[in-house]
Amino acid sequence: MGQHQGGRCAVGRRARASRSRHRPGGAMSPGPAPADLEAVRAQLGRPPRGTLEISARCPSGHPSVVKTEPRLPDGTPFPTLYYVTCPRLSGAIGTLEASGLMADMSERLGHDADLAAAYAVAHEDYLRERESIAHVPEIEGISAGGMPTRVKCLHVLVGHALAKGRGVNPLGDEAVDLLGDYWGSSSCADR
Ligand SMILES: [Zn+2]
Repeated sequence: MGQHQGGRCAVGRRARASRSRHRPGGAMSPGPAPADLEAVRAQLGRPPRGTLEISARCPSGHPSVVKTEPRLPDGTPFPTLYYVTCPRLSGAIGTLEASGLMADMSERLGHDADLAAAYAVAHEDYLRERESIAHVPEIEGISAGGMPTRVKCLHVLVGHALAKGRGVNPLGDEAVDLLGDYWGSSSCADR
C-alpha cells in the first residue's frame, strides 16, 4: 500500500533503528488537528507516527502530504520528511514510476547541468528543513528519493514539491505536472 505500491521505490525503508531518544523541543508549532490525524490513519491503515504537520492537501481537503519528525517517537531515524498519504495520489505516482520516468530523469541528471544543479539545491533544502527540526546523526547528509544525483522514489519528490510549492524541487514539479488531475471527477476522500 502507499509508497510501497508496485515495489518501485523504497520510501519507508528505514535507517537502522536507534535506541536513543531525541525529541524536538522548544518552539514547535502545535501538532495537527485530531481529525486530520484520524484521516491520515485511515489513509495509511495504521496510526501515523511523529506527524508534525499536514503539509499539503488534496482538492477534497483531506491530507495529501504529512511532515514527519526526523526521529520517530520510538527512536527510529526517519529520513522522509514529506510523506505522501493520499492513496489516490500515491497510486497515481506509482503509475508514473512504472512508466520508466525515474530512469529517464536520472539519465537527464547526468547530462543536464542546470537540472542537476537545481536538484542539488532541492536536496539541500530538504536537509536544511529537516535539520531545523532535529539533528539525527544516522541520516546526516542523506535526504530521500535518490537526491541529489538520482531519482529513486517519485513519492518523495512529489511530496517535497507539494509541500514546498513550485520552484523548489524541479523533478518533483515535473512529476506533479504529469499527475494532472489525479483526483479525478470525485473526491478521493470518498474512496
Ligand atoms: Zn487525496
